[in-house]
Amino acid sequence: MIQTENTAIVLRHADYRDNDRMVTLLSPSRGRLDAIIRNCRKPRSHNLNSGELFALGDYMLIEKGGHITVTSVRLIETFYPLRADYDRLTCGIYLLNLAEAVAEPEQEERELFMLLLHTLSRLTFSDQAWQPLLSGFLLHFSACQGFKPRLNHCVFCGKRIGEKEPAFFDAEEGGLCCSSCRRGRVPVALTPPQLRWMRQALQTGSASWINTPEAAAPFALLRNYVEQRLGRKIRSASQLPAD
Ligand SMILES: [Zn+2]
Repeated sequence: MIQTENTAIVLRHADYRDNDRMVTLLSPSRGRLDAIIRNCRKPRSHNLNSGELFALGDYMLIEKGGHITVTSVRLIETFYPLRADYDRLTCGIYLLNLAEAVAEPEQEERELFMLLLHTLSRLTFSDQAWQPLLSGFLLHFSACQGFKPRLNHCVFCGKRIGEKEPAFFDAEEGGLCCSSCRRGRVPVALTPPQLRWMRQALQTGSASWINTPEAAAPFALLRNYVEQRLGRKIRSASQLPAD
């Protein structure tokens, strides 16, 4: 029997038996952890909130015979205000689902963990529009999962594409496409502010996501790109507010 303390956030939960709950946790050092929280659905349970989606805390875990049980939790943040805003809640769930789609057991996910916390904080405690927040998340998510889109040169001919030149995005090839190479293909056109924003957002990190005009963040394009790379649709995306 091994007992460990792990900082983690709840990505998914499912009720189990009368009072228990199964949770999927994301830990920066251990990746995905599937665990059971016993008796957490009893009204007076100390662990009542620790099995909720978005619950961030230090989870004390006991591991025995391949099963992980949560024995106690020191909650750090619940991102509670998200629950009061349906649109932002669906954005938050979409982020959790993306993290769950890539996290593997015993595989470090420090960058993804920090990115998730950072984006959830902005989504919960700022009034920044959701499109730049989610677009910024998707860009950095691509980078930390090893499929950062190429945003400086045409993916076909290698020509450098300037900020004011017409640019297109080819999701299948994973980057920009110049106007000569686009012939016969159906890449998506990018506006100069969109290209500028994506370049800046990738270079400077989340500081530049703030105060971005909504139209400068090509959310639909990035969503399509990431889902194509993952090879699957993220089901909760269909619940997102209209772009
Ligand atoms: Zn080209």
